[in-house]
Amino acid sequence: MYDTQNIFAKILRGEVPCTKVYEDENVLAFYDINPKVPMHILVLPKGAYCSFHDFTTLAPPLEVAAFFKTAALLAEQLGIADKGYRLITNHGEDSGQEVPHFHLHLLGGNLLGL
Ligand code: AMP
Repeated sequence: MYDTQNIFAKILRGEVPCTKVYEDENVLAFYDINPKVPMHILVLPKGAYCSFHDFTTLAPPLEVAAFFKTAALLAEQLGIADKGYRLITNHGEDSGQEVPHFHLHLLGGNLLGL
């Protein structure tokens, strides 16, 4: 069950501010409030999906494809595609997922450790 009071739902509704880096009809990307590396961006679909697992099993395939394509284009626009970047997503309790709205962590901008 999707929690409409999660912090990213509030950001999507404009109730909580974020430092936006990209937005279109279906996707929002903003800086993580507690960055693990200098460029730490969160990329999320606007639809109410709890996690990667929910998104990829419940969303129409075209929506899933468009989302990942947008994430890749965003990395290019940010200038990190050539040198490299890392995508991370957490699903569920064992992963330590904190916010129950599907998001990718897009990490880049310097050499990333393991
Ligand atoms: P996860 O553990 O994958 O759910 O990651 C949640 C991420 O959301 C963490 O890296 C947090 O630092 C980040 N976060 C939580 N609240 C906010 C917020 N208001 N604005 C930006 N990032 C946030």
